[in-house]
Amino acid sequence: MSQGFIDLYSDTKSQPTDGMRQAIMSAVVGDEQKDEDPTVLELCRRVSSLLGKEAAVLLPSGTMCNEIALAVHCRPGDEVICDSTAHLIHFEGGAPAALSGVMIHTIQGERGIYSQSQLATALERPQSRYAPRTRLVWVEQTANLAGGTIWPLETIQSVVATAHEAGLVAHMDGARLMNAVVATGIDAKEYAKGFDSVWIDFTKGLGAPMGSVLAGSKEFIDEAWRLKQRWGGAFRQAGFLAAAHLYALDNHVDRLLDDHRHARLLSEGLSKLPLISITPTDFPTNIIFFDVAKTGLTAKEVVAAAKLSGLGLGAFGPTSIRAVTCINISAADVTRAVQILQKVLVSKVNPQLRQM
Ligand SMILES: *Cc1c(COP(=O)(O)O)cnc(C)c1O
Repeated sequence: MSQGFIDLYSDTKSQPTDGMRQAIMSAVVGDEQKDEDPTVLELCRRVSSLLGKEAAVLLPSGTMCNEIALAVHCRPGDEVICDSTAHLIHFEGGAPAALSGVMIHTIQGERGIYSQSQLATALERPQSRYAPRTRLVWVEQTANLAGGTIWPLETIQSVVATAHEAGLVAHMDGARLMNAVVATGIDAKEYAKGFDSVWIDFTKGLGAPMGSVLAGSKEFIDEAWRLKQRWGGAFRQAGFLAAAHLYALDNHVDRLLDDHRHARLLSEGLSKLPLISITPTDFPTNIIFFDVAKTGLTAKEVVAAAKLSGLGLGAFGPTSIRAVTCINISAADVTRAVQILQKVLVSKVNPQLRQM
């Protein structure tokens, strides 16, 4: 990250800490795809037990976790039910169609979270030779595009139960599951209970350079391994990566609460700026969204101007902007971010100032 630049684009911008870099340097490594990397094996055991599953596999990215899970659970023509904001739909390059040939059936949930009754309604369509075969129910914890919202445990449990009663399988995109865990104090394995597959991302708030771990039954992971190999996701000395992940599990989980506190500070600061709307105002984890419609500028224009002034943000809609806190961002950075945005808006929106 360049000097002084405050990057709130995403928690994917998190930089490895000194401790993590040391853990990487001193990792004991072996040939991962031969099951000979002791650090990877230890990581997979740790994550299986964290998530309450039989087995786990290290993958290069969260996207690959989602796409491998889809391909293992579904056949071409099958239908996946998810919220309309799901990462799966918007940020995975059309992979559900391209790699697995599945249909996506969206539910318009409340801030990324649909209810058991909405799921039941989606399942009411009579199965016949005309209908796609519904196969998989999808939950994203936390819901990224909805502002890092947390699925309540009871909602998750009722959704998973409904899926299983209907003979379907359930998958959790747990990219930021650990953010939900620290925010609520509910164990990861409680949230993951009943899911046929679940993964966590180490390159978001947990601060590793890359990598995710997908967990499930031994049978599921055996099939996932076949696709990991086929799609070129098998590693060699991946213990360097696994060492970063183990370090993150030991040192970077509890501190996610700092990110949540900083996101709250940020939303409070931004809500005081006259031309910015924040609705709703309660962002439970590290992701906030705000709207710049009142400035008369587009989100892209504001983001471009902020970037020139040393602040990274993301345009996620015509007038909607996302800001995400992570380990790189201090409380002082948040204060400065609000000041930068205020200056940017004054100079862009006030015509007199613009002519100066
Ligand atoms: C980032 C993200 C992914 C994809 O993870 P990568 O490691 O970036 O491929 C999937 N789902 C959600 C909700 C995410 O935020």
